[in-house]
Amino acid sequence: MANSFRPLPTTTLGVQRMISSIYSMGPDSYTEEMVAGLRRLAQAARGRSKEEIYLPALLDFFRWYVCLCNKLGYKLDDVLWYKYPGVCPYCGGERCSGKYDSKEPNPALFPGLMSRRGKPRTIRGWQRLIAKIYGQRNSTQVVEYLFERLRGEVDEAMEFADDPLSEQYQEPFSLEMADIGAWFFSIVTRLEIDLENEFLSRYPWKCPGCDSIPCFLLTSECR
Ligand SMILES: [Zn+2]
Ligand SMILES: [Zn+2]
Repeated sequence: MANSFRPLPTTTLGVQRMISSIYSMGPDSYTEEMVAGLRRLAQAARGRSKEEIYLPALLDFFRWYVCLCNKLGYKLDDVLWYKYPGVCPYCGGERCSGKYDSKEPNPALFPGLMSRRGKPRTIRGWQRLIAKIYGQRNSTQVVEYLFERLRGEVDEAMEFADDPLSEQYQEPFSLEMADIGAWFFSIVTRLEIDLENEFLSRYPWKCPGCDSIPCFLLTSECR
């Protein structure tokens, strides 16, 4: 059913659309799938068999993340840029100094930043931007710490997950989604994974589990 000659998407939005075509028949709760995916990812990370389990688990987690963005009508580029407009929203640096990190982003930094140029339009562009901001800081951290932070962000997002589109939760939820993205990009960078390449190889207009588009969620690998 999959057309192997269909060109792979080149933009973040194109990737979102491709994933939306593959997983159009998906379950209602992508949030739960994402949490379950994170659990599998944590298990795989412990075993660290990168080639066979670890890498697919990472890519599948990102797939559910994209599915959740699609379900909420988010443009991933916009969600990420709102929180990470080319700088660290906590210290304001193009390369995070780590010095002025506060628990809350500095609101004074936000208004002018949104109109900055240079918003990435590709998965690769986002991986590079987050690496530019946090790569140096993260290089001194163990991978387990990055996973811990990712898990923390997913937990925080879950606080709003019952009703992420209600007016009161909309902004906090999208900010949490941006944080999940940022820590995820940090992890793949730390592991020297080219996310865009690997993601497109795993989802070339079809589900790697059932080999179909749309995916019918028939095999355990579909999840
Ligand atoms: Zn910073
Ligand atoms: Zn499938």
